[in-house]
Order: sequence, then C-alpha cells, then structure tokens
Amino acid sequence: MSDDDAASSAGPPVRRVSDWEAGALHEIAAEHGTPLYVQDLDRVRENCERLRNAFPDADVRYAVKAHTGRSVLETVREAGLDAECASAGEVDRALAAGFDGERLHYTAVNPPARDLDYVVGITAAEPAVTVTVGAVDTLDRLAERGYDGRICLRVNPGVGAGHHEKVRTGAAAKFGVPYDRAAEVARSAADRFNLVGIHAHAGSGIDPDQLDSHRELVTRMGELARELVEPRAETGSAGGDARPLDLDYVDVGGGFGVPYEEDAPPLDLHAVADATREAVGPLPAGVDLAIEPGRYVVADAGVLLARVNTVKPTPDGTVVGVDAGMTDLLRPAMYDAYHPIRNLGGAAGATAPDERPATPVTVAGPICETGDTLCKNRSLADPIRGDFLAVGITGAYGYEMANQYNSRPRPAEVTLDDGMATIARRRETLTDLTTVERTENDSTGESR
Ligand SMILES: *Cc1c(COP(=O)(O)O)cnc(C)c1O
Repeated sequence: MSDDDAASSAGPPVRRVSDWEAGALHEIAAEHGTPLYVQDLDRVRENCERLRNAFPDADVRYAVKAHTGRSVLETVREAGLDAECASAGEVDRALAAGFDGERLHYTAVNPPARDLDYVVGITAAEPAVTVTVGAVDTLDRLAERGYDGRICLRVNPGVGAGHHEKVRTGAAAKFGVPYDRAAEVARSAADRFNLVGIHAHAGSGIDPDQLDSHRELVTRMGELARELVEPRAETGSAGGDARPLDLDYVDVGGGFGVPYEEDAPPLDLHAVADATREAVGPLPAGVDLAIEPGRYVVADAGVLLARVNTVKPTPDGTVVGVDAGMTDLLRPAMYDAYHPIRNLGGAAGATAPDERPATPVTVAGPICETGDTLCKNRSLADPIRGDFLAVGITGAYGYEMANQYNSRPRPAEVTLDDGMATIARRRETLTDLTTVERTENDSTGESR
C-alpha cells in the first residue's frame, strides 16, 4: 500500500515550503506584519487523516505540545484524535478546546505539585482522564492526593531515537520506569489505581533510517503487555504466578519524522504502521495499540514569515538580516535544526525571486547571540532589503518555543481555514513584556 490510495482527501505525504502560494503569503504578511507564523488548518486535517488511514485500528493521540493554538486543538479534536498533554497548562487548553476526559491523557514528567493538584482536581469532574506516570514517587504523590483513577505506566524501553540528543527520550533515564522493573511496578500500581495502559516514547525523529530502534521499542512494549495481561504464557518472567492485569492499550509514543530538508523523502506512514504492527506482535484481546504523534500533525502545516532588513557583504559571505530570530524560532539555535527557507520576494521594484541568481547567504536574526542564525551559507534567490522570506516546516515546536529573550514580544500567528486568514494569536506588545512585573501599584506582585 502507498499513500496514493488516500491522496484525494489526505493530501500529499509532505507539504514543502515551495508548495505554498507566494501571493497569498505576501498578502498575509503585508496585512499582519512580520515576524508572523501562518498555520494552515486544512493541512492539519490532511495530516490527521493520513495518520488515521495508516493506523485505522490504533488510538491516535495528538501530542499537544507541538502546537497548542486553540484552533489547531479544535481541528485535531474534530478530526477524531485524542489529546496527549505534558502539563497542567496543556490539559487546561485541551479542555477549553472541547476534549472530553476520556480523550485526554496527561503525561506527568517530574510533575510540579501545582500541576498534580490541578489534574487531580480536574479528575473529580472528568474521571476518564488518564495520568501517565514514569516514577514510583509520582504514583505515591498521586495517592497522597487521594487519586485512585486511571493510570498508565510510562516505561523506559532502553532504546531511543531522535534527530538530536536533546530529544532522544527512549533511553534517557529521566523518562519512565526502567524496563526490567516495569512489570513489578505495573502490578503494584494496579493494586492502588486503575491501571489502563503502558506507554513508551522513543523521542522525536522516527525516519526511514531509524525504523530499527522504533521496531525494538515496540517489540519490547508488546512483550511487556503480554507478560502483564497473560502472565502464565510467559516463561521465566518475575511474575510467573502473578494475576493477569486488564490493560486497555499499549502506547508506543510519537516521534514520526517530517522531511525538513528539501530533498529528504517523506516518511512512508504505511511502512511505519506495518513495522509497528509486526513488531508489537499479537496483542491480548481488548488491548489496543496507541500512538502519540505531535510534530507529524502540525509541522508542515506552518511557515514563519520574516522580512529582510539588512543585506551585508562580508569577507565570510553575505549576511542577510531579518526580523525573525531565535526568540521566534528556537529550533536552529537549540538543536542545530534545519529549516528550509524560500525567498518570496516583495522588495519594491525588484524582479521576481525565480529570476534572480542563487547566492550563498547566512540568514541572521536580531538577537544578541552568535547562535541566532536561521541558516548558514545556504543558497537562496539573491535576497534584497524588503523581501519576505518563508521559513518552512515551522508548525511544530515553532510558536510553542517562542520566548521573550532580549525583551522581544512574541510574534503573531494567523491560521488559514479553507484559505481564509484569521488572526489566531495577536502579536505581543512592549506592554505585554512587563505585565507580570511587580509594580508600585501592585502590593502582591502575584496573580492567581
Ligand atoms: C513530545 C512527545 C510526543 C510527540 O513527539 P513528536 O516528535 O512531536 O511526535 C509524544 N509523546 C510524548 C510523551 C511526548 O513527550
């Protein structure tokens, strides 16, 4: 099978920065200013549909942290995906976007007390929320709060994948209960809580070269599920005479890669799905497979628009200064991430970019950090002051990682729905930068 059979409604396997319509982006940038994120909800829908087509019998949970915008969450909910949340703030947003408790999963990684208090409070009204836990202390802290509801055990499978060491979680000791203790911890958790699932997330970046570590993780999770649900069928396991547990699912995490480089092939989702099903093996009756894609749902649905404000020839090449930097898009500075960049043109009186010669340039932002570059020595249609640049595949972990370093207000974001542009998050103002500061008139300096 290939993606072709679903191409009509699920769209192509990737949308490249070259596929966006330059005229439409010009208009949006002219109206809303730059730096500006543009997120296309139609593409989000296509990505959800492709995932559901490839994994028809799995629970698909959107990892909300990739993009938490309200309209994105609503779009994903309408497309039938659940929400996987990493903090109280994300749970709050998912609830506001209309996800019911049974479609809400909260993954507690060293959770602050405030977050646990909030989520335990929520479960009074929404008892179907599931809390995914990766440490015995977290189970104890939930029990101390009187919680005895739905729990999923996060397991550290000891294998990892990822495009950068900072996002490889599968083998990082921070995440999950070590694999060789997982069965024992699961059994004791089931005595105190309603244990409904087991979970592992290998980190971000399942790509065609890394299917082996994905397979390995999934294999281990399938084995653990069988050991817990059908303990007698396993020989030599620590829980040979343990009582069978009643799990609803095995969640094998997210990390589905997208091709950032223009010539990188898109992930073959059907191949990943086949490899996943084969690796997980026969699951006991009533146990479903679950996946948690974040990036894949939203990454290629977004671009970041920036405007060229300086073009400086130097002995080390041409430096193109733009109004977007690492405070708007952190991934290049933090992960050495590659994002495709396209010159959309727009400088007054200049020829169209495709009629200009390609020049190697470094694109740099306005922040006082050497790392504040969006690309180095990349060949672009010769940029001229006043041109708009589109930075591609920025819909995941783009706006979400934006920050106010250098007292830079965060950028605005526009969503496209059936081609209609709506402002989704307004540009922050200089006043926004100081609203949380204690002032003379504010005796506490605190908010709720
Ligand atoms: C971040 C995260 C995901 C999603 O990762 P992607 O690379 O965006 O697909 C899934 N599950 C958990 C627990 C995560 O922390």
